[in-house]
Formats: sequence, C-alpha cells, structure tokens
Amino acid sequence: MRDRYGRIIDYMRVSITDRCNLRCKYCMPDGIDLVPMEDVMTYEEIAEVCSVAAELGIRKLKVTGGEPLVRLGCADLVHSLKAIPGIEQVTMTTNGVLLGRYLHELLKSGLDAVNISLDTLSRERFAAITGRDELPDVLESIEAAIASPLRVKLNVLLQKGINDEEWFALASLAKEKPLDVRFIEMMPIGSGREFTGIANPELREELRRRFPDLEEDGSVHGNGPATYVKIPGWNGSIGFISAIHGKFCDSCNRLRLVSQGEIKPCLCYGDAVGLMPILRGEQDAEKRRAKLRAALEEAVRAKPKQHCFEEPEHITETGRMGRIGG
Ligand code: SAM
Ligand code: SF4
Repeated sequence: MRDRYGRIIDYMRVSITDRCNLRCKYCMPDGIDLVPMEDVMTYEEIAEVCSVAAELGIRKLKVTGGEPLVRLGCADLVHSLKAIPGIEQVTMTTNGVLLGRYLHELLKSGLDAVNISLDTLSRERFAAITGRDELPDVLESIEAAIASPLRVKLNVLLQKGINDEEWFALASLAKEKPLDVRFIEMMPIGSGREFTGIANPELREELRRRFPDLEEDGSVHGNGPATYVKIPGWNGSIGFISAIHGKFCDSCNRLRLVSQGEIKPCLCYGDAVGLMPILRGEQDAEKRRAKLRAALEEAVRAKPKQHCFEEPEHITETGRMGRIGG
C-alpha cells in the first residue's frame, strides 16, 4: 500500500493487550483504567485483521502491548501470524520479565526477533521506574534471548535526572554482546508528557567525542526509524530513535492496530478507524473481509504527512502509550 505521500506502508504494530506486569511511570502509572476484556480483540479477530492487512501489502508485524507476554497464548498467536500468506516477519517488543519463561515456545512459533526494554542496570532504579522489582528476570531473559537464534535489540528510554547518567553503561552492553542498544527519545504521549527526556543528538555527539572513529551504520537493522552507529570492535550497534530531534516521517511505513480493534494512522493524533463494528457486526466472512480491507485503506489514506511532537499543543492523541503499543 502507498499512502497519499507516496510512502510504502508494509509494517503494522499489533498491540494485543493494554495489560502489563510493570507500571513504568512514563507509560502506565498505577491507578489507570484498563479496557474491559470483552472490548479487546480475540486472537482470531487479530489474526483476521492481520490477514487482510497482508493482502493489502503489510509484510512485517510487531507484536506489542501493554506487555504482550502477559496475554495467555501469545506464542500461539505468533504462530498463527507467521502462517499468514504474505507475512514475512513477526517480531515482538517486550519488557522481558516473562520472556525467559516463554522463549522456547516463541522460538517454536517462529518469532524472528525481539526488542527488550531496559532503562537501567540498577535493581533499585528499575523498581523505582517500573514500580516492580523485576530486573533480575529481565537480565536473565536478555541473556537467554542472546543465546537463542533471535535477533535482539534493547530499547532504552532516558529520563533527565533519573537514569540519564547510565547511558554509556547501557550503550556498552553492545560492546561484548551481539545486540543493538537503541535510545528512544521520550515522546509527549500520555504520561510521557510529564517527563523530560534526553535529546539523542547530544548522545551521538558524546559518543563521537569518545570514539572519533565511530562509523555511521547504514545497514538495515529492522523495520523502524532508528539510525545506527558502529564503534569499531564492538559486537552490536548503537541506535537512535529520535522522534523529537530527528523527524523520520518521510520514511514512515506503519499502521498501528490497537487491542480494542482500532487502526491508528499516526501515533501523534487521536484519529483511528474502528474495526469492532465490522469484526463483531458482520457475520458474512467475505463481506467482513471486504469491509476490513476498506477500513485499512481508509487508515492508510488518513496518514498525515508528519507528526507534531515538537509542538505538543497540537498533539491530539490522549491515550497512554501502553494502550497504543509504542
Ligand atoms: N511492554 C513492552 C515494552 O515495554 O517493551 C511493549 C510496549 S511499550 C509501550 C513499547 C515501548 O514504548 C517501550 O520500549 C517503552 O519504553 C516505549 N515507551 C513507552 N512510553 C513512551 C514514551 N512516552 N515515549 C517514548 N517511548 C515510550
Ligand atoms: Fe508496561 Fe512496556 Fe509500558 Fe513499561 S513501557 S508500563 S513495560 S507497556
């Protein structure tokens, strides 16, 4: 599919739950309302939407949440998504707490790669950021994932005065380990508005100062907007996802399927195309697929030229990142 600006849309992020076993303050603080389970798409409904999306040209799916691994049977879903004709890659973003437990099943299901979120190497700080004392399990999961055939990336969200001093320790994980470490700039979505992030150009500059022989890494690492640098001798690369200080909308390739059955054309705006009336209202399978196709095409047509994170007053998305899926 091509949108109005000529961009090829071949990637869909699929949020399968708004539930999570952590409570990262910038994403899902304690006390938030959860969507009633009957309003969340079933796995059959998710698979049907993904299958129609594949007919329209979606080739890569990212399973996300909330925390995807808190939803029972997540590996079975991965298996059914991998079986959809046209889908070339199914990957996952997880906080890693349950990854060790489900890794074997996920590998059997054909998962291609995993992104694990890790903001700190300090157990105390982890508990303060996420509300839960789960760092040891996350670190074990990271080791297990690295030892498996999966491609592994770490997602780091730096907050000024909270964990920014750890940036180099976190980046250095890519020195010995075969994984990419990516710094994601804090986006002013949901509770993220209340936190001050770190500008990626500052980190890049500091890395270049420390490693004058730093090289740009133009090789393709995934489906996303990250740019990468490589430090000679290091195993993995350092990536930057710079929504605020490095607008990447020209190469936007994505749709977002939210667990309540909505398709979001852009993370920044509240607009969404509702699929539940089609999924639950149209009993005829052929007509249902035709209507889903039309809804997905409508979402692609509605993709805006660019986000406006640098002008927060124009952001119309009012939901939490944990509901949208990042
Ligand atoms: N629970 C999984 C995890 O943490 O990886 C998947 C969902 S989570 C919403 C996906 C990613 O969004 C995480 O890497 C998280 O750090 C990031 N994220 C959450 N809130 C954010 C914000 N306000 N700005 C930028 N990234 C955010
Ligand atoms: Fe949960 Fe991921 Fe949000 Fe943290 S960032 S609260 S782990 S969904």
